[in-house]
Amino acid sequence: MNVLVINAGSSSVKYKLFLIENEKLLAEGLVDRIGLNGSNLLHKPIDKPEVNIKSDIPNYETALSMVMDALTDVNYGVIKSPYEISAIGHRVVHGGEKISSSVLITEEIENIIKECFDLAPLHNPPNLMGIQACKKLLPHTKQVAVFDTAFHVTIPKEAYLYAIPYRLYADYSIRRYGFHGTSHRYVANIACELLGQPLEKLKMITCHLGNGCSITAIKEGKSIDTSMGFTPLEGLIMGTRSGDIDPAIIFYLVERIGLSIQEVNSMLNRESGLLGLSGISRDMRDILKSAEEGNEMAINAIKCFVYRIKKYIGAYSASMGGLDVLVFTAGIGENSSLIRSLICKGFEYLGLYIDEEKNSNSQRKKAINTDDSKVKVLVIPTDEELMIARDTAEICGLNTT
Ligand code: AMP
Repeated sequence: MNVLVINAGSSSVKYKLFLIENEKLLAEGLVDRIGLNGSNLLHKPIDKPEVNIKSDIPNYETALSMVMDALTDVNYGVIKSPYEISAIGHRVVHGGEKISSSVLITEEIENIIKECFDLAPLHNPPNLMGIQACKKLLPHTKQVAVFDTAFHVTIPKEAYLYAIPYRLYADYSIRRYGFHGTSHRYVANIACELLGQPLEKLKMITCHLGNGCSITAIKEGKSIDTSMGFTPLEGLIMGTRSGDIDPAIIFYLVERIGLSIQEVNSMLNRESGLLGLSGISRDMRDILKSAEEGNEMAINAIKCFVYRIKKYIGAYSASMGGLDVLVFTAGIGENSSLIRSLICKGFEYLGLYIDEEKNSNSQRKKAINTDDSKVKVLVIPTDEELMIARDTAEICGLNTT
């Protein structure tokens, strides 16, 4: 049985098709520039050469119809008919306070996704368009929504409330929601498999360090705090997002420097973070290379990036009353032994020691702590699409491994 995973973004659709019995990836692809000039579909069947199809793709229905055609094409397809897709799992960014797990999509769920449009204006509308297009194309196929925010619904009030007038929470739902939940949940589950211990018994911190970065404290199997907040802008230093800043900087920029609110918004989301600090790139690889060559701005950017993460690890260890497991994932977390090493320095007081040899070997799923380290430190490649496929299969009662 096959599960199709769909991630419909503002002008793109990413997809992956899994054979669910053994979780084998059969094909993946990207429809890009939907509704814009130069739209195209890049389709990558796993055992055949990839194809790039340039075409006019005005909307999500056309995009998904092309995906179905590609998946079933006689030359580069991987299934014979769309009816071989047993269920479809959709990534949805925001489920607000009502959604605490992945769910079968019904009219009620679609309405909840709509209610959250204001909270995720760039993501929830295309997510819903993807769902509606799939429903039109395959009306009898079950569809499941897997929400980025759902894993964080367990965060207690003292961690999700901002100290602003309470009515802003009551009337406008302004609170911490947290994002990357599917990734944090996936790596936490894999960590437990590797350690042979249940999540409920572990105090765990998961660091998702990619272009977007967030860190989550997991206690008794539940997310109890996370660094992204009302939006993904809060928390760690990211590729181009500032993460935490003093909100008064915004007033200063507007009132004293004369920037418009749109300019400040764009600056904090697209020109800050590693890019803003280094003046070089948002890509950690470029920054590491420049730092190696002695570039001071690059060195500073790395120091700030690492320091912020250390601060959160300290804070979350305090929130949980200790730490058993620290997990690194996503592009930087999975690939940069130097950044992992810098982050882990200074946590000896928690009983955390890493083995530099294990840290620097190229294996992607591994423990990097020393044998006598009280805290286990793991590197685990994230796979949000596989998590979505697993949830979809479970909710739809399909056989899994
Ligand atoms: P992601 O959003 O998970 O794809 O991660 C993107 C980030 O991972 C970018 O900042 C990349 O520079 C970074 N990254 C990928 N590979 C490496 C690597 N080998 N060393 C350091 N950073 C890396």
